[in-house]
Amino acid sequence: MTTEKHNPFKMAQQQLDEAAKILGLDAGTHAALREPVRELQVSLPVRMDDGQVRVFKGFRVQYNDARGPTKGGIRFHPDETIDTVRALAAWMTWKTAVVDVPLGGGKGGIICNPKEMSPGELERLSRQYIRQVGRMLGIEKDCPAPDVYTTPQIMAWMMDEFYWQKGYNEPGVITGKPLPVGGSKGRNDATARGGVYCVREAAKVLNIDPKGASFAIQGFGNAGQFAATLMNEILGAKKLIAVSDSRGGVMNRDGIDAEEMVRYKLETGKVEGFPGTTPITNEELLTLDVDILFPSALENSITSKNVGDVKAKIIAELANGPTTPEADEILHKRGAYVIPDFLCNAGGVTVSYFEMVQNSYNFYWELPLVHKRLDEKMTAAFHAVNNMRNSHKVHNRLAAYLVSVQRVAEAMKLRGWV
Ligand code: NAD
Repeated sequence: MTTEKHNPFKMAQQQLDEAAKILGLDAGTHAALREPVRELQVSLPVRMDDGQVRVFKGFRVQYNDARGPTKGGIRFHPDETIDTVRALAAWMTWKTAVVDVPLGGGKGGIICNPKEMSPGELERLSRQYIRQVGRMLGIEKDCPAPDVYTTPQIMAWMMDEFYWQKGYNEPGVITGKPLPVGGSKGRNDATARGGVYCVREAAKVLNIDPKGASFAIQGFGNAGQFAATLMNEILGAKKLIAVSDSRGGVMNRDGIDAEEMVRYKLETGKVEGFPGTTPITNEELLTLDVDILFPSALENSITSKNVGDVKAKIIAELANGPTTPEADEILHKRGAYVIPDFLCNAGGVTVSYFEMVQNSYNFYWELPLVHKRLDEKMTAAFHAVNNMRNSHKVHNRLAAYLVSVQRVAEAMKLRGWV
């Protein structure tokens, strides 16, 4: 990440303001959309393995539930703040609206460093979070899911703790669960898969042959790793040039074998040192001359400071908030095609919604049906945004906001909230 820091919530509000102006939203609706409807901050005492009690801070924000129960992941991160969670909750609201699933947006987080915690400590922290935040949750209220540094195992512990509180199974309260406890097939790679479906559609719009396209991935976690392998599996794109994680990046102009790279990362916990590659910094990765760039780490990667050097034709934002508003404008002016975060990474929440549906009628779909329905949702969302871009002559993120804000505002109006 760069040193230029934006408050992500201010950034989310700024983006909304721009959309509200173009849509001509009335002042009341606009003001209601600028703030979360509900939020909770909790302190979480947890007994650590050394016998001492440590108190963690946690958050849950329900940003807007006009279109349905709020939905959004829980992030475990040392730099978590309430404003990050608010911003992510706002983006979830626009994300569920852009893919047109009947849900609102929420988000949760705990300030902690999971890399320094044992499995037992993580389990006790996860259960404590549900003891505190569980009162806000439920399949008709608010349904969490995984995010940065939270896993299907953590979701299973959380779902189980909710069961002990309620006295009955409500698996749909949390998605991203392992398959044996009510997970959906196809959830593990859904975020990246949805992003790759969008890249496929963008390549059609731009007349780029994806088979020969080169690409680089910043952030080699869940989203980034699957993007690497799915680019080949779905689009036949083999020219993965560079990848990076929090420790640094590596590149090979002749291409990196995505499957081998994933295996190496899983075995060693890093991308550095992968045979046949040379080291590069995260900054360098962002400015490589590639056709497609996948920012797949955290916020504020592409800023006014480095955007002048970003050369990719398609920027597929698997991460949330990787591009600052100033950088966005500059990318648009130079003709880059940005697939904005809440469209590009909406595959995760879409399959999470499919998971809730399957949990509700207790009957599960086979993988091809999950992929087909995900493709339909992502393709429709992509073209709704692309059409809005063309009709309003605005950049893609603004176009995506116009689609989503209009849908959420309409629901609020119909319910008589504004
Ligand atoms: P993850 O924890 O699996 O992976 C994050 C990766 O980013 C790790 O490899 C980490 O080393 C790397 N990273 C951290 N700091 C970095 C830095 N400064 N430079 C380069 N790499 C860095 O998380 P994830 O689930 O893959 O999520 C990544 C992004 O995608 C986040 O912004 C998240 O909100 C977003 N997202 C994820 C999902 C999902 O289903 N996993 C869904 C929607 C959005």
